[in-house]
Amino acid sequence: MNRREFILRSGLISLPILLTGCAWKSRSLNYKVIVDSDYTIGHSMLKGLPEYEIEHAIRDTEVAIIGGGIAGLVAANAVKLKGFKPLVLELSASLGGTSSSKNYGEVYFSQGAHYELAYPDYYGESTLKFLEQSGLIYFQPWTKQWSFKERKHIITGNRKGRSFYKGMYSEELFPPSQQKNKFIELMASYEGMMPMPTPKIDSSLHYLNELSFYTFLNDEIGVSEEMKIALDYQMKDDYGAGMEQVSALAGIHYYACRPYYRKVVELFSPPEGNSYFVNHFNSKLKEEERKTSQMVISMEENARGVLLGVLDYPNKRRYQIQANKAIYAANKHTLRHIHPDHSKLFKHQQAPWMVVNIIIRNELNDLGFWQNEMVVDDTTFMGFIDSDSQTERSNIRVFTAYYCLPAESRKDLINVESNAAIIADQTISYISEYFHTDIESLVLEVQIKVMGHAMPIPEVGYLFNDANRLIPNSNIRYAGVDNGRLPLFFEAVDSALSAVESL
Ligand SMILES: Cc1cc2nc3c(=O)[nH]c(=O)nc-3n(C[C@H](O)[C@H](O)[C@H](O)COP(=O)(O)OP(=O)(O)OC[C@H]3O[C@@H](n4cnc5c(N)ncnc54)[C@H](O)[C@@H]3O)c2cc1C
Repeated sequence: MNRREFILRSGLISLPILLTGCAWKSRSLNYKVIVDSDYTIGHSMLKGLPEYEIEHAIRDTEVAIIGGGIAGLVAANAVKLKGFKPLVLELSASLGGTSSSKNYGEVYFSQGAHYELAYPDYYGESTLKFLEQSGLIYFQPWTKQWSFKERKHIITGNRKGRSFYKGMYSEELFPPSQQKNKFIELMASYEGMMPMPTPKIDSSLHYLNELSFYTFLNDEIGVSEEMKIALDYQMKDDYGAGMEQVSALAGIHYYACRPYYRKVVELFSPPEGNSYFVNHFNSKLKEEERKTSQMVISMEENARGVLLGVLDYPNKRRYQIQANKAIYAANKHTLRHIHPDHSKLFKHQQAPWMVVNIIIRNELNDLGFWQNEMVVDDTTFMGFIDSDSQTERSNIRVFTAYYCLPAESRKDLINVESNAAIIADQTISYISEYFHTDIESLVLEVQIKVMGHAMPIPEVGYLFNDANRLIPNSNIRYAGVDNGRLPLFFEAVDSALSAVESL
């Protein structure tokens, strides 16, 4: 099959269909495709753990931290500030979780979270203070905002974004209309009332957590078809599900805390995405304070604190750690194996995501836009970030493409490896369609990151369910965005700080 035939055909294949069943036949490719997935090791908890050698001596630590994403690393930093010794145990071979990055030679790119926006002055004081003391942000009295210190990673206005819908470019997915004006006015009426972290939101607004964003908007101003397409896209892009599933509170929060339809809001996006923060927090830890490729398989409270079972899979060993306290900052769905009693404290759904990084020789004439929103027939494809907007023009350019999958496709992610070539090919087709140029001959490498339980969906009833409140006397504290928080960096940081505070 030649490329043109493939493009014509692939337009009809959505990712969920591609992932079902066996391997699809792909053309032979001139570039390497690499898949990064913890599926096999993660699922060994479900399917049967490997029979590794058991270490009989029990290791000791003061505070064990399970999970080395943003929340786990911030927790480790905060534990140190309190004068205790942390030990981070991370399942993956690298740190960062959904904020991790990879590289092609000297060029680094995000495999998940990729941006932050300047924070208004009414956000939570303790998290702002922590980020300021960490040397990451500073207060600008003239804008009343907390901005990021490293100015070279601020994306300038004219390159911030472009949308692609039905083969056409536009500035925004939601075109100007009377209904849009009403929508902007309605969202503006909530400005200043939607702080982060979300536990700071006034209880008089909590009823908005009990209805969907769609129901709320439909009652207030009606929802036109074009508005639905745009808002569904934006909700999915940040929250993993459309406006009928996410709560009105989550939806309003999105637009009211970042009023970019009305004002210029400073956008911070390093080429390596939010692993910029991961590297920062990791650099404050000593080697012996964090370990990767260590999967925690059990956690139980005992007279001395918390006893953890750990699988060290590179060294094919199983061992135990006795900690005085534990902060569980890993994905909560695995608790049903690790601590079944506490697993009942978490009931939310999680969205699976896949990130496909296309690395090319930069011989494209087009200047890149940062976010390229794309609405195509395959509704799981969300468009891409273009590194050309993040760095000085260089020989290598990276397109970070995102797929947000429905929960029922999670089980099919096992087929990503066998279908990696065709997934890469299809993603290149979408980006070629965007540029109206076939970019395949420029591709040097494709890297695919698979995340089965990537982010909690802030659906109706999800926010404010902090598990720590239900187990006040436990030596185990929960952190992470999937503890009743929105799936955002500020929430991950705050969840960790409040978990450490309550130790
Ligand atoms: C595709 C995508 C794009 C995103 N973009 C943005 C963005 O631009 N800006 C933003 O603010 N937020 C974004 N987010 C949200 C992002 O998830 C949060 O900002 C934040 O990174 C979440 O951090 P966390 O520590 O709570 O969870 P995670 O990042 O999920 O970290 C949990 C960690 O626990 C580890 N783990 C799991 N089980 C075990 C075990 N048994 N033993 C040991 N370790 C274990 C995992 O491997 C993982 O490293 C995005 C999320 C996704 C999926």
